[in-house]
Amino acid sequence: MALLLKALDFGHKKLAEVIKEGDACLDATCGNGKDSLFLAECVGETGKVYVFDIQEKAILNTRSLLEKYNFQDRVISFQESHVQIIERVKVRLRGAVFNLGYLPGGDQTFITRPETTIKALQGVLALLLAGGIVSIMIYSGHPGGQEEKEALQKFLAELEQDKYTVLHYAFINQINNPPELFLVEKK
Ligand code: SAH
Repeated sequence: MALLLKALDFGHKKLAEVIKEGDACLDATCGNGKDSLFLAECVGETGKVYVFDIQEKAILNTRSLLEKYNFQDRVISFQESHVQIIERVKVRLRGAVFNLGYLPGGDQTFITRPETTIKALQGVLALLLAGGIVSIMIYSGHPGGQEEKEALQKFLAELEQDKYTVLHYAFINQINNPPELFLVEKK
């Protein structure tokens, strides 16, 4: 593995460093379920992973991936917009993940959008425990992707410095809009 980790791997490494057995975590855009699987491993048998996606296909793919690992009891899924997080989730979170863009092989009309992404993020930040981490991967090569990245970056750059630490992790010499990572740590 290269010394400079890929954006996704760097985010996972930081999440794995803070999440403990028994924690609650959240996947705001479960897609094919890879992040949900990762979080389910981190929280262990006594933890819970809250999972959101508006596409039925994403919820079904995620459920079947987690069943394969016998992790189904660790997951609570909602086929709903992540805007509903604050209504549905009543526990404090150690970690959360957003994977923004569209589901590869899915319907490209279901792209994430700046207004809803930011609303969901506000909900997640309110639920986040001190010392907890939110990892946001953003793909920006598709139509609308650049606008979402700009809106997200503006929102994150304005978070109060005494409450949050925000890192932008991006490779700047790669072609084709490589995915970028933002990490938010609550103080
Ligand atoms: N681009 C990533 C995958 C992103 S998946 C990659 O290449 O791996 C993004 C997921 O967000 C999709 O499954 C989509 O259905 C979901 N999504 C879009 N808008 C949403 C919303 N408002 N609430 C919850 N999920 C949403």
